Amino acid sequence: MADRKPDIDEKLSHVAFDIDAEAHITVKKERCGECRPRPCLSACPAENYTWNEAKDELLFNYEGCLECGTCRFVCPLDAIEWSYPRGGFGVRYRYG
Ligand code: SF4
Ligand code: SF4
Repeated sequence: MADRKPDIDEKLSHVAFDIDAEAHITVKKERCGECRPRPCLSACPAENYTWNEAKDELLFNYEGCLECGTCRFVCPLDAIEWSYPRGGFGVRYRYG
């Protein structure tokens, strides 16, 4: 039987978060309407970016961020203000 790829919930079970009340990533959502093909939707490994079809707007959650920096690099409209979380906050990777 072929190996099964772990889904996002399984992947995230290997990390923990100390969530800061202050967002370390913010998005200028007014730029997202004209963006195509909205690469953040598929590039974020934590699936933090989704598109709300009903409201025709981007939804973003910084809480599950893995701090990979990918979204900042793929955004074609420079809409993402990115920084690492403040000291003591953010993702903790559990190994072993
Ligand atoms: S890639 Fe940038 S501009 Fe495009 S939808 Fe995502 S955050 Fe908005
Ligand atoms: S830094 Fe990585 S995990 Fe965090 S929101 Fe951007 S793409 Fe997603």
